[in-house]
Amino acid sequence: MRRWRALCAASAMVVVSGAWAVPSLADAGCFDRTTQPYTSVVDSHFHLRPFGGPGIPLTEMGEYWRQTGVRYVNLYGIGQILPVDSPCIYYLDCLGTPVLPSPKNDVENAQDVAQTNVDGVHLTLSMTFPDLANPGGILDQMRQLDSAYPGKFHWMGEVNLMKQALLGNGAQPATLGAIVSWSPFMDELRRRDMPINIHSDLGNDADPLKFLYLMETVLTLYPENKIVWAHMGLSNELKTIDPALHIATLRRVMDQHPNLYLDISWRVLEDSYFSRGPVREQYVPFFDQYSSRVIPGTDFVASRKKDFAVYAEELDVTSRINKYLNDKAFRDIALGQSYFDLLGLPEQAPPVCAA
Ligand SMILES: [Zn+2]
Repeated sequence: MRRWRALCAASAMVVVSGAWAVPSLADAGCFDRTTQPYTSVVDSHFHLRPFGGPGIPLTEMGEYWRQTGVRYVNLYGIGQILPVDSPCIYYLDCLGTPVLPSPKNDVENAQDVAQTNVDGVHLTLSMTFPDLANPGGILDQMRQLDSAYPGKFHWMGEVNLMKQALLGNGAQPATLGAIVSWSPFMDELRRRDMPINIHSDLGNDADPLKFLYLMETVLTLYPENKIVWAHMGLSNELKTIDPALHIATLRRVMDQHPNLYLDISWRVLEDSYFSRGPVREQYVPFFDQYSSRVIPGTDFVASRKKDFAVYAEELDVTSRINKYLNDKAFRDIALGQSYFDLLGLPEQAPPVCAA
């Protein structure tokens, strides 16, 4: 009965024609949390393209996913790329060098997917190019990507509304006026039922809710869009918000906006919050309650400077919170059910075995 993880391992041997075929989980029995891994089978926040410098080839990433049991991946570009002649690999190493949105990474991801057979892993291409501060051309660029790769893109993001870490590299946060002008592309996303993952810092350690109004403006203007809030608004600039304040704020906006989802990717969340027992004990009941609207991810950026060990560690670190979830939340988050439902995939996560 408990052969679901064995199926994961065996999936590497399944020969499929195309990168999208994944063996079904439906009849694979129940998932035994006492003997099977707590790491998530979904990586909804994965950047195949580094900020600069060479990346890790998709074929090699396919091996990483098979070895770690990750079976569903959103392929993000990087919303901002460094100039091609820049020696920088990470934008914070080169303050002053402009990082600007571009469709280049999205095209390269689509090319890679078309040319690579990643057996046993379901890949979802994402449009990462939009410059939310200058939304005028977004709908046209969506159409250009669609005509080049018909029916291939099913997600948008991560796109940056307010990312304080980028402000030293010429990135502009979107103004309230710009958010109003998102409507042509937001209408199109809604028409297609395509989720959008938005990175919008909640605030910083000096003023933890400083930028909340930006996300609330988006949610109020576009209540029917499926919006995923990257990292629950947390970041390296916000490592000390009182968990009670954070959770109360999230509860309020989640209750007001039923199409809002939370992305709990990025090891900053574990390192600065969940790894501390008294803090974790506040977040776990919140995740248990809202688990159908919470999706996991690593926020791994596939720079060639990294290898399997780094990916495996980031997956492990970002998955540790799963150990503390109740069975329903574990199935929703770690086993992928909330992600499948959000994307409209027919897949069903296995039930968790009764203790
Ligand atoms: Zn990211």
